[in-house]
Amino acid sequence: MPDPIEILVLPGDGIGPEITPVVEAVLRAVDRRFGLGLRLTRMEVGLAAHAVHGSTLPDAVIAAAEAADGVVLGPAEMTSYPPREEGGVSVPGTLRKRLDLYANIRPARSRAGLPQPPAPMDLVIVRENTEGFYADRNMFAGIAEFMPTEEVALSVRRITAHASRRIARVAFEMARARRRRVTVVQKKHVLQLTDGLFVREVEAAAAGFPDVMLESVTVDAMAAALYRHPDRFDIVLTTNMFGDILSNLTAEMSGGLGLSAALNAGDRHAAANAGHGSAPDIAGQDKANPCSLVLSSAMLLEWIGRRRGRVEFAAAAGAIEAAVDALLASPATRTADLGGALGTRAFGAALVQRLGTAEERAA
Ligand code: NAD
Repeated sequence: MPDPIEILVLPGDGIGPEITPVVEAVLRAVDRRFGLGLRLTRMEVGLAAHAVHGSTLPDAVIAAAEAADGVVLGPAEMTSYPPREEGGVSVPGTLRKRLDLYANIRPARSRAGLPQPPAPMDLVIVRENTEGFYADRNMFAGIAEFMPTEEVALSVRRITAHASRRIARVAFEMARARRRRVTVVQKKHVLQLTDGLFVREVEAAAAGFPDVMLESVTVDAMAAALYRHPDRFDIVLTTNMFGDILSNLTAEMSGGLGLSAALNAGDRHAAANAGHGSAPDIAGQDKANPCSLVLSSAMLLEWIGRRRGRVEFAAAAGAIEAAVDALLASPATRTADLGGALGTRAFGAALVQRLGTAEERAA
């Protein structure tokens, strides 16, 4: 009997406590069907953790995340957190840094039955996840924003050769398993040194993948091209903030933020963490679409299976994708954000039923 695969589930804020139970139920369903040997543990982060422990991200959670085989992380309502010195730390930002989750992988594709983009889309945004313009986490110590006077505010964008090189490698390796095309997105005629360095490292990495085509597009042109010709793109490789923004565009083009699957991955750790936030406008109303975090968790299973050489994890991930597609094909089995009639819980129940073992589905 192999060791259990430890999955740490962190519900987070807003809609997090509504969508994570769906993820847990889905993981249990594929665990039964594919014999994965998962062991799920739940811990609090965010405002619930702050109320009890005085920190949105207690040290015990970081230790548990480091020890786990994978993390499922719900959204964080950062804008409601107390100041950092009073325990309000960015949960996703700090976990990305502590677990060195340097690659943010955000796939987006058109799905049958949903509103379609102008051309069929099946692409993956590969976003550098540890530096760039994210001033609250891009320095070793302190924050990369300051105000020399009351009337002047400055932000420092950090780009390193090391971080650029390793995210480029992830993009080219992924491209090899797909359509062998990488588009690097930049603004290097303006951000001459920082994006200049990023593109220099991407081009150097490209030399090791002569079978993969590399093209370079500026970020503003890319926003338009993604919308008009999404079929032209396969792997979209870019820096932290450009990737954050463009991936919301592609998520919306695929149907909505409720489908924004994402994996934060490093060499040793990975966390499923959807591309959207805590959606305070619909929290507590059984309206949230859990697909984003469910599909993110499928990506996590695939990542774990690849590291451990266990093909049944990829099969489980594929079954989750197929079950989601089957439900999304009809408005009767969608959540309200996609024009459907089901609440979060009812959608979760339908998904679990579809994913059950053959005996369970026949019952
Ligand atoms: P948001 O992504 O939470 O919501 C934007 C819109 O999309 C809202 O109308 C919301 O209802 C809808 N939406 C998002 N997820 C949905 C889902 N699963 N199903 C159905 N509808 C969904 O963005 P926001 O309102 O700008 O931010 C809210 C909070 O989330 C802020 O505190 C922000 O800092 C935080 N945030 C966290 C993360 C993260 O944890 N990784 C990412 C982005 C924003």
